[in-house]
Amino acid sequence: MAAVTELTTLAEYGAEVAGCTRCALAQTRTQVVFGSGSPTADLVFVGEAPGFHEDKQGIPFVGAAGQLLVKLLAGIGLERDDVYIANVLKCRPPGNRDPQAEEIEACESHLFRQIELIQPRVVATLGNFATKLLSGKPDGITTVHGREQHVTLGGSQVLLYPLFHPAAALYTPRMLDVLAADFARLPELMGQVATSGSRPAAALQVPTAEAPQVNAEPAQLGLF
Ligand code: URA
Repeated sequence: MAAVTELTTLAEYGAEVAGCTRCALAQTRTQVVFGSGSPTADLVFVGEAPGFHEDKQGIPFVGAAGQLLVKLLAGIGLERDDVYIANVLKCRPPGNRDPQAEEIEACESHLFRQIELIQPRVVATLGNFATKLLSGKPDGITTVHGREQHVTLGGSQVLLYPLFHPAAALYTPRMLDVLAADFARLPELMGQVATSGSRPAAALQVPTAEAPQVNAEPAQLGLF
């Protein structure tokens, strides 16, 4: 790959990362899932790793967890193209197993560079892996969700805002209330007035007809 310092835009960096061979996931992935959304977003979401559907389509959060994320965004008056969505790992771990330490180490500079190029105000981490990596602390998501932290990422001050992973709400429905309540604070944290009220959790349920899709692939279990 070309030296990072020679690259100026997110799109250029994405094109470089598409050929990444820094870890063994390069051998099993269909394609790199770099990220999607606005390259100048004030709000960046960071999940764990691409799953089956993301690996096939090359876009993060396009499966059932992604459908829930889109509904949560709509509840605060945003669409997915208003924000930027990325993952800790850019390639799917086989069988959706947890990311391994050496994979995170190999991949983390891609995420840091994305944040450096986007310069968001708020980085919302979804689940344990993103939260621990970007906070630099071992505290788990169950303890720190909904508590904003001032951190320096990509050379800039950002507000880190840990959230439960949307897939956790799919697997454990009571978590949807917590996720929705934490999510509703995002406009305030971004220094904006919400354009529409936050939705009650019931409105966010992914239709049961879609549930088998979620279970059709192995669960990403490191979400709590
Ligand atoms: N879960 C994630 O963490 N990331 C995705 O892109 C999809 C599901």
